[in-house]
Amino acid sequence: MNAFPRPVVVVSKCLGFAACRYNGECLPDVFVERMKPYVEFRPVCPEMEIGLGVPRDPIRVVLLNNELRLIQPSTGKDVTDKMRQFADSFISGVSEADGFLLKSRSPSCGINSVKVYPGLGKAGAILQKGKGFFAGVVRERLPLTPLEEEGRLYDFGIRGHYLARLFAFARFREIIRKPAMKKLVEFHNNNELLLMANHQKEMRALEKIAANHENNPLENVVAEYGAHLRLALAAPSRRAANINTLMHAFGYFSKQIPAREKTRFMQILEDYRAAKIPLSAPIKRVRSWIARFENNYLASQTFFEPYPAELMEFADSGKGRD
Ligand code: SF4
Repeated sequence: MNAFPRPVVVVSKCLGFAACRYNGECLPDVFVERMKPYVEFRPVCPEMEIGLGVPRDPIRVVLLNNELRLIQPSTGKDVTDKMRQFADSFISGVSEADGFLLKSRSPSCGINSVKVYPGLGKAGAILQKGKGFFAGVVRERLPLTPLEEEGRLYDFGIRGHYLARLFAFARFREIIRKPAMKKLVEFHNNNELLLMANHQKEMRALEKIAANHENNPLENVVAEYGAHLRLALAAPSRRAANINTLMHAFGYFSKQIPAREKTRFMQILEDYRAAKIPLSAPIKRVRSWIARFENNYLASQTFFEPYPAELMEFADSGKGRD
């Protein structure tokens, strides 16, 4: 159906790119390996970048005087400011990044699974879970850029939303690189159903931006469109909205397909509604009709193939359905 651009993704280096963990380990991840042919990874190890060697004594997030700090307990070294400065300047240098994929539980890279300690002592109850310092700056500076931990991508809902945004933003980056109204309109048309399922209000705003461009310089139109596109895809689409979109597509074929297939499709939709199967299952069915009845409009819609099928058909952990 669609040709795919390669999203640029900043990734934690220890996720299969270098043995840079505090203990000298590398932790390859099955899904990161699966992504490699489709994504342009930019590996980074923030702790190495601020001068901590390998191996090194671990650092941790500590609550000191009501403030979270990044500290190496064995030496008492406080690397909070160094890490923040590095993160700031690194982020300024990767404006083309479509997303970030960071290592879970790390005091630097973890996005919401990081242990926060009450002090520097060896033991001590964990106060709460929070974000790592590098990830925290990413979130602050780029709130609408896809940011995930590797562990969360084993949940098909989270994975689908993350990948759909990565590939949509990579496609849109082509328009930013070489702006042309024709390309923007084509982009909008091809993403119509994806946007409809994600955010109807933002979809209408995008429609207006793409239609009323006459008295606006092209660069402004593209920038405005890009900002609303990020808002439109910020939250995952709801199950009910996906079902409406699938029913809308089903309407194109309802007179052509036999009753037995219709019944089966409705059953698949019910299973999807009940969170028993992923969205890819009803999508697969509709895609088979798109090919069979050669529907060019639906064939151009990214909703039915937002990212490469090889990434869609990855086994699910079953966690976090919704
Ligand atoms: S989690 Fe981040 S800081 Fe820690 S080793 Fe991996 S890349 Fe480096």
